[in-house]
Amino acid sequence: MQYQAPIDLLKNRTILVTGATDGIGREAAFTYARHGARLILLGRNQQKLDHLSAEIHHKFGQFPSIFKIDFALANADDYQELAKHIALVAPAIDGVLHNAGMLGKILPLMETPPTLWQQVMKVNLEAPFLLTQAIMPILLRAEKASLIFTTSSVGRQGREGWGAYAMSKFATEGMVQVLAEELTDTTVRVNCINPGGTRTQMRANAYPNEDSLKLKTPGEIMPLYLWLMGDDSINAQGESFDAQPGRKPGPAA
Ligand code: NDP
Repeated sequence: MQYQAPIDLLKNRTILVTGATDGIGREAAFTYARHGARLILLGRNQQKLDHLSAEIHHKFGQFPSIFKIDFALANADDYQELAKHIALVAPAIDGVLHNAGMLGKILPLMETPPTLWQQVMKVNLEAPFLLTQAIMPILLRAEKASLIFTTSSVGRQGREGWGAYAMSKFATEGMVQVLAEELTDTTVRVNCINPGGTRTQMRANAYPNEDSLKLKTPGEIMPLYLWLMGDDSINAQGESFDAQPGRKPGPAA
C-alpha cells in the first residue's frame, strides 16, 4: 500500500498492541510510537517486554505500559483482571492491534493432536475475543477507536497442512464481520489485516527452506497498519485488507 502517514497521525492516541515483543507486533509498536501514540504493550515474556520498553523509552522518551499475559494459559477472569489494570493507566483506548499469534505445526488436520488444536484456537481466536470483550468499555470511551484483527491468506482459502491455524484465521474473519455489524452505531470500527508473507520467525518456521530475503520486512508493510489505525480509514468497517495486495499466497517465488 502506498500511504504516507502524517508524523502526528496518532498524537494523543492510546494504542494497545498484542504480541508486541517480536515480528510484526514489535515493528507496529515502534511505528505507532513514531507517529505519536502512547503505547500499551502485551506480551508473554517479561524479559522481552522490559527490553522493548527500555528501547521505546530510549527512542521516543515514553515508557509504554507493559502487561505480561500468556494467551495460551489465560482464562476469561484473567482478561477481566487485565482490563481493570489497563483502565488504571488508560481512561480510553483509541486503537487495538490484535497481532499475537501462533502457527502450531504444519501437518494434516487428522494428525493434529487435539491439545495443539486447542492451543492454537486459544491464542489466535479466544484471546482476541476475550480481550476485546474485556476492554470494550474502555474502547467505547474513546472519541473514535480502531480495532484491528490479524488474518492470513489461509483464513480465506484453506490449504492442506495449515489446519488449526487456518481455522483460527477463518474464524477471525468471521468475528470481524459479526463485530462490525454489531458496532455499526458506535464509535468503534473493526477490520482485519492480512500481512502476507513477511520476514519473521513465524514465517521462517512455516517455510524453513524459503529465501527470507525475498520477503517484505515488517517495516515495509507498516503503511496499512498506520492507515487503518488512523483517521484516514474512518469509513472502513468490517473489511479484510491485504498489506501486500496482489502477492500470491505460499512460498516466495
Ligand atoms: P512472530 O512469531 O514473529 O510473533 C508473534 C508474537 O505473538 C510474538 O510477540 C509472540 O510472543 C506472541 N505470542 C505468541 N504466542 C503467544 C502467547 N501464547 N501469548 C502471548 N503472546 C504470544 O509472528 P509474526 O510477527 O509473523 O505474526 C504476527 C501476526 O501476523 C500473527 O497473528 C500471524 O498469524 C500473522 N501473519 C503473519 C504472517 C507472516 O508471514 N509473518 C503472514 C500472515 C499472517 P514472543 O515474543 O514471546 O514469542
